[in-house]
Amino acid sequence: MREFGIATRFVHDRLPGRVVFGAGSVEQVPREIDALDCHRVLLVAGGSAAGVGARLADTLGARAAGHFDRVAQHVPETLAAEASEVAGRVDADSLCSVGGGSATGLAKVVAVEHELPIVAVPTTYAGSEVTPVYGVTGERKHTARDLAALPRTVVYDPALTIGLPPRPTAASAFNALAHAVAALCAPHQDPIAALYAEEAAGTLARALPTAVRRHDDVDARGDLLYGAYLAASGLAAVGTGLHHRLCHALGGRCRLVHADVHALLLPYTVAGDEALVTSGRRRLAHALGVEDPVVGLRALAREVGLPDSLAAIGTPADQLEAVAADAAGAVDRAHPRAGDQAWFRGLLDDAYAGRPPEPHEPTTHTREAQEGPR
Ligand code: NAD
Repeated sequence: MREFGIATRFVHDRLPGRVVFGAGSVEQVPREIDALDCHRVLLVAGGSAAGVGARLADTLGARAAGHFDRVAQHVPETLAAEASEVAGRVDADSLCSVGGGSATGLAKVVAVEHELPIVAVPTTYAGSEVTPVYGVTGERKHTARDLAALPRTVVYDPALTIGLPPRPTAASAFNALAHAVAALCAPHQDPIAALYAEEAAGTLARALPTAVRRHDDVDARGDLLYGAYLAASGLAAVGTGLHHRLCHALGGRCRLVHADVHALLLPYTVAGDEALVTSGRRRLAHALGVEDPVVGLRALAREVGLPDSLAAIGTPADQLEAVAADAAGAVDRAHPRAGDQAWFRGLLDDAYAGRPPEPHEPTTHTREAQEGPR
């Protein structure tokens, strides 16, 4: 084990943003809007968050210019166009999103179009609130990276997340774990992102079983939100890899629940993605308190009651070949599995049947050669 040389050479994108954290901090939203010198807020809060959104609109009084109360996963382009039209019509000078990644995602699209700041109040562990990535879905999902999409302020209130039922809680926390894995094991090592990710993985894995057993444990909920924040901050710095590309290909084509797809595929991609660095896998195992991260992730998923196969989350078997083709085309060209449709099909077949993941077989590409010293 080397003592020095951790930080010999790296690039880290440090993103701006203010974080207000703590149970009850949703009360701080009006003050945060004022701090941005904004006076006409469009609330974006639908589904489970519509009630909180309505209460916030009352508290904001004259500062609430409107309330858009419909959201949907992957931001359908028709919905984005409607929300954008409303923002223009009410002359909004800011946005406040309340909800999971769907609400944040919709606010991001409007923010980019109208150049408006966002105050985000997340109620799941999706982490979109700290990344500059946004997406809109027409026939396919298109994503882009733009600092204009990055919320200026994030208000994390664990008390708002206690209504999230056990299954989406577990799946969403695995979505956050996937972000941690991406930041910890990315081929281009970023020691700062890795630090965030290691802390995130341990915090998420420790808090999740408690949050699933006792949905109103605010401390466990707080740890999940904190872990989600750290993990997504790490991801925002390194960008996505094979796991995310595969999840988007599968979720997009088969219209599956975003967090379920992440939860299901994560052990398979940790096992099979040979571009993930070994030192990252070791640190992941250490953070999870296990010897083998793949075994540890599967055990955690079982413990918190997550489904164990793509079949169980409603994946149509006849779409797997098309998903494999999409994913093979979506990974970076430098990735050893780029264009390898058969490999993706094999992984998807295993995940569909719930078979234990196959460990990767290194190609000529030896990852150790790419690793910085640890
Ligand atoms: P979501 O926002 O659709 O929420 C999932 C479900 O949980 C919804 O039915 C919602 O109403 C409900 N819900 C949310 N919070 C709740 C609460 N506290 N109590 C009770 N119910 C609650 O899903 P998500 O998983 O949070 O986000 C998925 C979306 O976010 C996808 O579109 C995905 O692409 C996007 N995403 C983007 C990024 C990024 O960096 N751009 C990162 C992660 C996810």
